[in-house]
Amino acid sequence: MEKTVQLYEGKAKKVFATADENLCIVSYKDDATAFNGEKKGTILGKGVINNRLTNRLMSLLEQAGVPTHFVEELSDRETLVKKVSIVPLEVIIRNISAGSFAKRYGVEEGIVFSAPTIEFSYKNDDLGDPLINDYHALALKLATQDEIDTIKKYAFKVNDFLKAFMLEHDIELVDFKLEFGRLSDGTIVLADEISPDTCRLWDVHTHEKLDKDRFRRDMGGVEDAYNEVMRRLLGDTV
Ligand code: ADP
Ligand code: UDP
Repeated sequence: MEKTVQLYEGKAKKVFATADENLCIVSYKDDATAFNGEKKGTILGKGVINNRLTNRLMSLLEQAGVPTHFVEELSDRETLVKKVSIVPLEVIIRNISAGSFAKRYGVEEGIVFSAPTIEFSYKNDDLGDPLINDYHALALKLATQDEIDTIKKYAFKVNDFLKAFMLEHDIELVDFKLEFGRLSDGTIVLADEISPDTCRLWDVHTHEKLDKDRFRRDMGGVEDAYNEVMRRLLGDTV
């Protein structure tokens, strides 16, 4: 399957059309942004790592019963996916306090929750992706109640699976962001990516950060951290 026209260029990926109107090709870049695009940089090799990791994790999730957009890895940076209309909600699951949760509620990072939490942000760059609840999402017609219920069910299933999988590789899954989309028949599937850009991942023993927080917080060792996640989860490096 070949790329035809570019449909979209985002902060981390480009999306291309193909001859099949139900399929598109995503191409992962090394560009990194944080704080709603205010901080910009490059993480060398990130595109390759995020492409491979996302595809592996989506294949495993598909086997575990979560439908995804993944079709086929085409190259180091490019993957064929089912074209979806993205539900404009960023779905965030947290197992441990960190990031905006810790800041918003004035607590330290690292509090292990007795049960995972879920929250939604309205995916809208102009508004800075504000926090939104189910009622507001329904009022704005961003999704139906059925879709929200399905998304929540899948999101917790993704968490159960990923948490256990990461732990087998000595990684703690602190929190992560998912995006879902609708196929042409309305079926909800997991889309976008699952990578150290979109998850907080800590070494289980040292709590060392192995994710984009190293870039956000100018901690150094960003490429090494992404490579370490790939080595642990896929037994591979770039
Ligand atoms: P952003 O838009 O936040 O800058 P990216 O750089 O990752 O993010 O761009 C990828 C875009 O492609 C995102 O807007 C994402 O919602 C969208 N997308 C992800 N998977 C699919 C898919 N299967 N079909 C259509 N669009 C998708
Ligand atoms: N996240 C993401 N994209 C976003 C916002 C958050 O992938 O636009 C991920 C982030 O990497 C983290 C989780 O979602 O794993 C929770 O992020 P948080 O709300 O703490 O926000 P942040 O601290 O990133 O501003």
